[in-house]
Amino acid sequence: MRIAVVGTGYVGLVTGTCFAEVGIDVTCIDIDEKKIENLKKGILPIYEPGLEEMVVRNAQKERLTFSTDLAGSIQGCGCEAAFIAVGTPPGEDGSADLKYVLAVAREIGRHMTDYLVVVTKSTVPVGTARKVRQAISEELEARGVDIPFDVASNPEFLKEGAAIEDFLKPDRIVVGVSSEQAEKVMNKLYKPFLMNGHPLIVMDIPSAEMTKYAANAMLATKISFMNDIANLCEIMGADVNMVRKGIGSDARIGNKFIYPGIGYGGSCFPKDVKALIKTAAENGYQMRVLQSVEEVNDRQKEVMYDKVHRHFNGELAGKTFAIWGLSFKPKTDDMREAPSLVIIEKLLEQGAKVRAYDPVAMKEARHMLGDTIEYGKDEYEALIDADALLLVTEWPEFRSPNFNVVSKLMKEKVVFDGRNIYDAVEMSEKGFCYYGIGVKKQL
Ligand code: NAD
Repeated sequence: MRIAVVGTGYVGLVTGTCFAEVGIDVTCIDIDEKKIENLKKGILPIYEPGLEEMVVRNAQKERLTFSTDLAGSIQGCGCEAAFIAVGTPPGEDGSADLKYVLAVAREIGRHMTDYLVVVTKSTVPVGTARKVRQAISEELEARGVDIPFDVASNPEFLKEGAAIEDFLKPDRIVVGVSSEQAEKVMNKLYKPFLMNGHPLIVMDIPSAEMTKYAANAMLATKISFMNDIANLCEIMGADVNMVRKGIGSDARIGNKFIYPGIGYGGSCFPKDVKALIKTAAENGYQMRVLQSVEEVNDRQKEVMYDKVHRHFNGELAGKTFAIWGLSFKPKTDDMREAPSLVIIEKLLEQGAKVRAYDPVAMKEARHMLGDTIEYGKDEYEALIDADALLLVTEWPEFRSPNFNVVSKLMKEKVVFDGRNIYDAVEMSEKGFCYYGIGVKKQL
């Protein structure tokens, strides 16, 4: 089988590489010439564990190729499906901006020569498949040709940081189709990924499009709910770590995704929650739960800064803060909407100095923050003469640091733990003034 994947970001590159891994011939396409040039040399635009090795291996076997030429990748070469995996960033009003998706659809329409299943893998609102179909039809009409094609929706559920594992062994694959032929192609493509017995769920296209938003909205809701509970725990003198264990053991609730923290970030939850609220509003419905989810999250991104501000009685000017972790979550270099950005901005506004360390996101951080902050060459260097440590992203290497070294390097032994990875009592025994989320402050 041969397919084309348009867009070589987190989703497109992982999708293309994993399809190649199971023996499908894949061309990954991007408009960014530099990205494609680098990918041809085995240099990846993103960090994702295990991806580089897999890209190189499949490229060597010539199952995975990179190109800027979409036309050449779908014309007369037996290409059966073209996946659209370009970005759908939020527009000014919060709705998903479809200009990249529709630009690709039009280009496909301008160049396709044989039957093709055009698959939207990008997260797109209900009704987008109709627009994609229309864009392609208009181009075919302009060319005066009548080439059959189908549009399918195949939302992606991978998690950055575990994307390959998620793609190769998915909990489920959701496919929205409106023809038997498209269903057949999608079944054939995904058969190798269903060996672990997990289902390929076939549904109508609008339901598939909605499924992705509902999934992300539910996950964001769990996070905001737990953060709200954590904040109340703090006020009432309860320990959210205990409460989490207490409720997570109820099978109806489950123990996943109920960890409190400093708010969700990344390129998906914030924009997808916004887009769903907007879709509803455009259709005369108000998503009250999600409005609150968003509000709680915006507030939660400031919770750590507020604790810092209170601890130092607002006197932050000239103080140095060490930040461990910049990416929006561990095992990725993605800093889009990361809570670290909110905290750093607020500290800098107050005239504080920030020295940060992140295992992989510092290149991206330099790109976004430039020299407004300093960068440690490792987690310990970031601590030198710091007035406090702010643990922002729970990278595994931060879980068990040498606290004797930490104590010696810091000016003040104050730790703000935004992910509750340290034990409050142990920290206190080690002589740290410790602040967690939803737990009692330990002096
Ligand atoms: P990204 O920004 O990392 O990558 C998008 C890529 O598309 C870029 O390389 C860009 O150059 C390319 N592109 C833009 N216009 C193009 C065009 N006309 N032709 C060819 N290439 C073009 O985006 P991403 O994080 O991979 O997300 C892609 C989509 O998948 C979004 O809709 C997102 O919501 C969804 N999604 C993302 C994740 C995630 O974890 N990142 C998970 C599931 C779904």
